[in-house]
Amino acid sequence: MIGDPVEHSISPAMQNASFRKLGLDYIYLPFRVAKENVGAAIAGMRALNMRGLNVTIPHKLAVIPYLDRVDDLAEKIGAVNTIVNDNGVLTGYNTDSAGFLRALIETGVDPKGKNVVVVGAGGAARGIVFALIGNSAKLTVVNRTLTRAEELARRAREVFGRAPRVSALSRPDLAALVKEADIVVNTTNVGMHPAEGESPVPCELLRPGLTVYDIVYNPIKTRLLRDAEAAGAKTIGGVDMLVWQGALAFEKWTGHEALVEVMKEEAIRQLRRG
Ligand code: NAP
Repeated sequence: MIGDPVEHSISPAMQNASFRKLGLDYIYLPFRVAKENVGAAIAGMRALNMRGLNVTIPHKLAVIPYLDRVDDLAEKIGAVNTIVNDNGVLTGYNTDSAGFLRALIETGVDPKGKNVVVVGAGGAARGIVFALIGNSAKLTVVNRTLTRAEELARRAREVFGRAPRVSALSRPDLAALVKEADIVVNTTNVGMHPAEGESPVPCELLRPGLTVYDIVYNPIKTRLLRDAEAAGAKTIGGVDMLVWQGALAFEKWTGHEALVEVMKEEAIRQLRRG
């Protein structure tokens, strides 16, 4: 894995647990790589014949020019988080986006035709919005800074020929949108450690029949997820997305089905350790 910083990543423990359990001769290591060394790091990957890399913040865009091929969805999103080296041919993928979707589907929720409200329009939101549009969800993106949601919608229109609706993050607008929604996704930092008491969606808007997906994974159970559970809504946590993006990368590198439960247990162990 390359990124900056990488010291607190739980991916090494999660991936190595799955390699060990399957008896596979792989090891996953984090490397802190400065911005100006991204090209050299990818050249190093080729020279050392590494099978794969994960790429994390802030290099997900910067690696693209150094690759031989980029998968269609990763190209549309404009971000690569997984690289596979097939005998010197490097291909970039985006398993963040695919992992988000897989965690949703594994919970028994098919986004096709569903009304989905995505709160947030930052880095993580883009892959999520594109995955949902690509799977025919009816989307609204709500963001504190409206222009950022508009920019994301513009990009979606360029890529898919259709754009999500956008709205500012005001209480009355959110109430009206959540009332009509089947799925609400939080992609903001709200509720993330250390502001664990905060939630982007007031608890009285939550109800049975709604699916609430919070991509924040620290804490494991956010205020939003606790409120949603108490209101009888279905919940999906950020750990599931994190584990599935890792599992999909694992499968691309090794050709083996990932041990998702082993990875999830290890991820939770690491997060609890802090
Ligand atoms: P980002 O690019 O910095 O975007 C942050 C988003 O949060 C923006 O939409 C921002 O709105 C909004 N926001 C921040 N503070 C807010 C506040 N006080 N009130 C309302 N909105 C607020 O961050 P990111 O990379 O997208 O990451 C967002 C979260 O997702 C983080 O908690 C990260 O850990 C998590 N994440 C999880 C996974 C996973 O696998 N589970 C993967 C990626 C990210 P403005 O545009 O108005 O600033």
